[in-house]
Amino acid sequence: MVTCLRFMRQSEFRTRARRLKEAKRLVVKVGSALLVDGRTGRLNRAWLETLADDIATATSRGQQVIVVSSGAIALGRRHLGLEPGKLRLDESQAAAAVGQIRLARAWQEILEDRGLAVAQVLLTLEDTEDRRRYLNARATLNTLLSLRAVPVINENDTVATAEIRYGDNDRLAARVAQMASAECLVLLSDIDGLYTADPAKDPKAEFIAEVSEIDARIDAMASGPTSGIGSGGMTTKVAAARIAVGAGCSLCIASGHRQHPLAAIEQGERCSWFLPSATPLATRKQWIAGTLKPLGRLTVDKGAAAALGRGKSLLPAGVLAVAGTFGRGDTVSVVYEGAEIARGLVAYQSTEAELIAGRRSSDIEALLGYVGRDEIIHRDDLVVNMQRGRA
Ligand code: GLU
Repeated sequence: MVTCLRFMRQSEFRTRARRLKEAKRLVVKVGSALLVDGRTGRLNRAWLETLADDIATATSRGQQVIVVSSGAIALGRRHLGLEPGKLRLDESQAAAAVGQIRLARAWQEILEDRGLAVAQVLLTLEDTEDRRRYLNARATLNTLLSLRAVPVINENDTVATAEIRYGDNDRLAARVAQMASAECLVLLSDIDGLYTADPAKDPKAEFIAEVSEIDARIDAMASGPTSGIGSGGMTTKVAAARIAVGAGCSLCIASGHRQHPLAAIEQGERCSWFLPSATPLATRKQWIAGTLKPLGRLTVDKGAAAALGRGKSLLPAGVLAVAGTFGRGDTVSVVYEGAEIARGLVAYQSTEAELIAGRRSSDIEALLGYVGRDEIIHRDDLVVNMQRGRA
């Protein structure tokens, strides 16, 4: 279903913006066209300060914020004196290497002024597609956020190969939102949302305030405007929306051409919302329960089976036997008295699981030689009450 603006007042936008205000985890993607002045090639520092104020407000409300920031190439190209126009891949990689330092420093200075620790995270497409690397990146983000740092993420353009790079931070931001189980992703852009046609060319173009199902009509609307400076257009934003809502995350496309752009959304400035039908946790659990074929089996004792029933994590101490060959992050069945009682993403590969089965979590370091997580399956990665049947 698609809802158009003529049905929506400012107060209704404000109501929808609660998603932004109430998200425990929020991802904010900032496009190059906002961060870097297209004429001078310099950072729009005064504007960035106002966004940083909004980020500080969100963290002071207890929200965890991840920033996905473009702008490395745009900043670096000026510094290297590269001519305007399209860059060759090697030139944009060189520009990114130069620009990323400056970009990270600007974020660091500006967020630290507001008492926030800043972490730079550079990801490649492989980091988000390869299971093991995905899990590592996810764990690092979780740790950074629990330590109250703000991760500032960009694609690692310097090493990303042409065929296997995002090239646009819209889709990268959506994968980050999925990876972090964020509830809300805001794409700050130089356009205030999705239109039925390109508003620059078609005076009859109508603004789309809300999308709850991304169908072919929405794809057709998206073949619209791109800015001269960043890489993303409306097509990549809709592709990002597909990823985000599929992961249970609401996505908002909003204009960043205002001071305090997040506060503006909260106050009811118009923007386009893409709404998911489930929460990130529910989506993740559906995925665990439904789409994956378990690669192994952990047989558990009575105490562990009861603990899982109470919504607890599975600890190595309750595991009686390990079967199958699996890697970290693979799906395994949890079996009690011959029946599958749960399914989950295991935190250890099978050879390690065998070593720690039946042992206390405090022994993990001595057994494996590194400090691993206490749970063999964390409760967020577990789906309990599978249909009872022989496993
Ligand atoms: N990673 C690119 C940069 O930092 C931006 C990609 C985009 O424009 O979305 O310059």
